[in-house]
Amino acid sequence: MKGTRLLLLVVVAALVAAYFAFDLGQYLSLDYFKSQQAAIESYRASHPWETALVFFLVYVAVTGLSLPGAALMTLVGGAIFGLLPGTLIISFASTIGATLAFIVARFLLRDGVQRRFGDRLGAINAGVAKDGPFYLFTLRLVPVFPFFVVNLVMALTPLRTSTFYWVSQLGMLPATLVYVNAGREIGRIDSLSGILSPGLLLSFVLLGIFPLIARKAVAFVKARRVYARWSRPARFDRNLVVIGAGSAGLVSAYIAATVKAKVTLVEKSRMGGDCLNTGCVPSKALIRTTRFLSDVSRARSLGIRAASADLDFAEVMERVQRVVRTVAPHDSIERYRALGVDVVIGAARITSPWTVEIATEEGTRTLSTRAIVIATGGRPAVPGVPGIEEVGYVTSDTVWELRTLPRRLLVIGGGPIGCELAQCFARLGAQVTQVQRGPQLLPKEDPEIAALVMQRFRAEGIDLRTEHTPLHFERDGDARTVVCEHAGGQVRIGFDQLLVAAGRTANVSGFGLEALGIGVRKDGTVDTNEFLETIYPNIYAAGDVTGPFQFTHTASHQAWYASVNALFGRFRRFKVDYSVIPWCTFTDPEVARVGLNERDAKARGVAYEVTTYGIDDLDRAIADEAAHGVVKVLTVPGKDRILGATIVGEHAGELITELILAMRHGLGLDKVLGTIHVYPTFSEASKYAAGSWKRAHAPQRLLEWAGRYHAWRRG
Ligand SMILES: Cc1cc2nc3c(=O)[nH]c(=O)nc-3n(C[C@H](O)[C@H](O)[C@H](O)COP(=O)(O)OP(=O)(O)OC[C@H]3O[C@@H](n4cnc5c(N)ncnc54)[C@H](O)[C@@H]3O)c2cc1C
Repeated sequence: MKGTRLLLLVVVAALVAAYFAFDLGQYLSLDYFKSQQAAIESYRASHPWETALVFFLVYVAVTGLSLPGAALMTLVGGAIFGLLPGTLIISFASTIGATLAFIVARFLLRDGVQRRFGDRLGAINAGVAKDGPFYLFTLRLVPVFPFFVVNLVMALTPLRTSTFYWVSQLGMLPATLVYVNAGREIGRIDSLSGILSPGLLLSFVLLGIFPLIARKAVAFVKARRVYARWSRPARFDRNLVVIGAGSAGLVSAYIAATVKAKVTLVEKSRMGGDCLNTGCVPSKALIRTTRFLSDVSRARSLGIRAASADLDFAEVMERVQRVVRTVAPHDSIERYRALGVDVVIGAARITSPWTVEIATEEGTRTLSTRAIVIATGGRPAVPGVPGIEEVGYVTSDTVWELRTLPRRLLVIGGGPIGCELAQCFARLGAQVTQVQRGPQLLPKEDPEIAALVMQRFRAEGIDLRTEHTPLHFERDGDARTVVCEHAGGQVRIGFDQLLVAAGRTANVSGFGLEALGIGVRKDGTVDTNEFLETIYPNIYAAGDVTGPFQFTHTASHQAWYASVNALFGRFRRFKVDYSVIPWCTFTDPEVARVGLNERDAKARGVAYEVTTYGIDDLDRAIADEAAHGVVKVLTVPGKDRILGATIVGEHAGELITELILAMRHGLGLDKVLGTIHVYPTFSEASKYAAGSWKRAHAPQRLLEWAGRYHAWRRG
């Protein structure tokens, strides 16, 4: 394969070199054509087919090799053959030439380009996969995009060759007609600037705006199709109705009220959604208490002979609720009403693209609205393992109601929620067994990163069972057992309390989506496009209900796009930007991430370099008895541009912010290194990682010369 590629490269390079070496370009000039016009026309009169064939082949060669001259040849073709025959010959010659260039470029370049720039081509690839023919069509129609550039760029995408051919032929036809028509008049033109007559200019302008018109027309036709069976109210009660008052819904309503839209926020349960009531806030409050317990248990390492903690589990859980109550005013009905949001407690159901029915304690009412944001969030997924209902279980929704510490807790699931809760309960004194189907905890992280967490979990006494798949649960009186498949055999594990943390399911049913025909993806989330728009251009979704991330900060990020697009989409819509998404798992050690890790980079075919810095070497970490963990940064090979970073260790969730900022604003590791960090702090870890990168890329030659210079200076 490599040999064939090399041979093809040599042939193409030789042909291009010959073109320039023999100055063949002189024959593709207006001057040359005009000097030969009479001779060419007389030859064509006696040999029409031969002339057409030679012209056709030369055109294919010029376009296939991406040589300059195709535009001029189109004009010349019009002059020689006239409008219809000229258009016919050039339409086929240009499409065949373009397709040859496309095939050659794909064969020679695509793998390398995808490997090197795969992360940045991701969006284009996805766009081409979804809307490729239309995308190419628009590029072909607009003559400002150079013909050969379109061929080469499209070759780097996954577009099929046959699609490329027919779309090119159709898309180039109008421009070909305009050029050939201009060429027909070529006898009267002395220079290329002569073709800029008002008539031709008008046709170019039309060609330029045609794709926009086409896109608008397609959107209009699509919208008419989905709205056809619904009757649209003449007037609207609201500009926006937001369903769900979790992170996504609250921010959507807040933005709408800020820009003076009339907005209703409907919540059927508790304001603040999962994050406040059963997610981020209670889990972080519990983690704080258990971190203290961990400090107590390692008092000796801090020079204290003995320390003990006298804890009452029920009091710990009550404190968690106190924290929730303290944060609750941030998300309260009163606060949002004061901001100008009409908050309604009730269950919302979408009854048409413009109406939402709300069942409240007082009765049911219906609001008509210009736009809707669906922010109904998600809930814990409970696997249908036989016997699970009989043994009973808690989830991240209900674990907060426990007031008695289970003696033996079985945690099913090794994702962030399962890990955070497993460690908390172990530190509170429960005997925790954590069962994970795959080979590692935190399956989205690189293996050696997860290994640091697993090592700590085991050291703290958590019985980790990786590659265990629950087959069924058994209950005999108070005795509960899970039977797992492991290494081809069966393993029995006894427990008193089961905590299911096996992923989350989007809330997509029971509020009208089915009747509206709004689809869900394979993973169960609401199907939206890059504008977070459903099949109805006035209905949007944000947060866990649409994914792909399930974090509070991504829910609020999406909420901006959903609400702004819902309210102002007729003027301008914004594509949601997922280029720099961070997150953190708040285990001890914390695991914080932004952008790519090695696993993702490999999966996407992105070339990368890895730089690591061990936090065991950091002065502040040593002073704090927290000398463990790592900063791992992926950069573009040979460059300091950050592709992604993972930090494991104390305060990792705080430390990652510097690298998020760097990535977001295109600052490389050089800039991180060139920033003064306070000594001694944990934040120096990123700077030292940048220093490791710099050392690995030191200009060795230059340093050798510097060494010689200093030796010479010493005499
Ligand atoms: C244990 C745990 C810990 C977590 N820790 C973190 C963390 O540390 N950091 C982080 O970023 N994320 C964390 N998350 C994730 C975070 O909580 C979610 O990503 C976030 O809450 C999603 O917000 P949302 O608005 O999409 O949905 P939700 O918060 O689920 O809100 C949806 C709301 O819609 C309401 N609703 C649903 N249907 C209707 C209807 N028909 N009518 C009216 N109302 C309706 C629901 O009652 C709910 O209040 C954690 C989650 C859990 C479970």
